[in-house]
Order: sequence, then structure tokens, then C-alpha cells
Amino acid sequence: MARMPIIAGNWKMHNKRAEAEQLAREVVAATAATTDVEIVLCPPFTSLEAVAKAIAGSRVKLGAQNCHFEEKGAFTGEVSVPMLKELGVEYVIIGHSERRQYFAETDAAINRKAQTLYAHGVTPIICVGETLEEREAGRTAEVVSTQVRGCLAGLPADKVAASVIAYEPVWAIGTGRTATKEQAQEVHALIRKLVAEMFTPDVAAALRIQYGGSVKPENARELMSQPDIDGALVGGASLKAESFAGIVNFNK
Ligand code: PEP
Repeated sequence: MARMPIIAGNWKMHNKRAEAEQLAREVVAATAATTDVEIVLCPPFTSLEAVAKAIAGSRVKLGAQNCHFEEKGAFTGEVSVPMLKELGVEYVIIGHSERRQYFAETDAAINRKAQTLYAHGVTPIICVGETLEEREAGRTAEVVSTQVRGCLAGLPADKVAASVIAYEPVWAIGTGRTATKEQAQEVHALIRKLVAEMFTPDVAAALRIQYGGSVKPENARELMSQPDIDGALVGGASLKAESFAGIVNFNK
């Protein structure tokens, strides 16, 4: 089954409304000729509405960077899935390593967030990945497997099949140090095998697995040429339309 590559820009805590709207317009223009890649922009919450306006009528989709697992309630400072859905959000990044590291997000919380997203027809981009220390200790497979098992345990197979997992080695995020295509492919294949065991081979074959970690126009093509790499989650290079479009247009 052919999986359509999905390339998402994670703007993190960058871009106020006017800048966000401008960047989104530039991305729409610079990627208009590419119809065989799904494109997602994930601005901060405060710029979601501005970006929704800028991408209206284009192929570019709207994503958010986090959500709460409850639908409403006394959770000061949090944002719910129905609130995001109302703004046109179709994807939400959950379990990003920065949220795991600075906000103590656990696999169990990510699992609950995925369930809430599914209940509202929003697709999670579930992030996993090992630290440098874990890689150097030879624990990459163990760490990533534990994360995938914890994040996906008990979720409905049809929803998992339509989800996105982002493999992001923590040592490659924002460091300029990219995993080699062989290193990335090895972990992507492992994730797909694990999903086949947890669910079915069909679910694993449908699931899209993005690579994230210092993806740039210069390395996008070779990463994306790997059999189990179905796109990219892009941080730094998504903040300029030219570099983000250079990744989206990797096949051109
Ligand atoms: C990220 O934060 O998801 C990421 C991959 O960042 P960068 O592209 O800057 O390494």
C-alpha cells in the first residue's frame, strides 16, 4: 500500500500572529505545485486562527503542538481537543521530547491524549525517540519499543492505522546532527514491526512514520528514500518558507 508522505512544521514557541500568517501564506505559495505530499503547519495556539485563515482553500493543513486529554474542566492553562477542532485543527503533535523533558509528559498521558483525539476525529502525531545517553548505552530499541507500546496500548486498530508516529532521536533535535538514513530506517522498521505485532500487519503497513531531527532540504530526499520513512517532522527548518518548501518539494 502506498503511503502518502506527510511533512509537518513544528513552529514551537515562535511567531506571533502577523508573522505566523505571513509565513503560512509563503508556505502555501511555495508548496502549491506539490500534490503528492501531505503538508501540515503546527503554530503556537495563539496563531492557530491566523494560520487557518492563511491556508484556507489550499492543501496545507492545520496542526497543534499539544492538547489536554480531558475535554473540559479545571485544568488551568490547558487547551482541549474540542477547542482545537473548532479552529480547524486536523493534527496534534503529542509526546514531543520537549514536552516529555520539560513538562513530564508520560506515555500514559500520551495514550489518553490519543484516545481523546480519536474521539473527535483529530489525528495524533505521536513522538518517540531515545536520548544520546540511551543510544550510546545500546538501549535505542528498548527505549523506543517501550514508548511505542505505552503510547499505543489498547488503542483501536483502525485509528492507529490512520495515525502518524514521529521518530525523533532527541540528540538530533535542534542540534544540526541528523541521524543517518540507515540509523533512521533501522528504528522506523523496528517501530513498524512492533505495530504489526501489537495490532496487525495491515495496520503497520498503513501507519505513517515520520523522521524528525535536523531535517533540511539537503538531507530530506535521502531520508525520504528509505522504505519505512514516510515524511518528516521539522522544527528549525520550518520557520522559513524557503527551507520548509525545500523539504516538502524533496522529490522535485
Ligand atoms: C522537532 O522539534 O520536532 C525537530 C525535529 O526540530 P529540528 O528540526 O529543529 O531538529
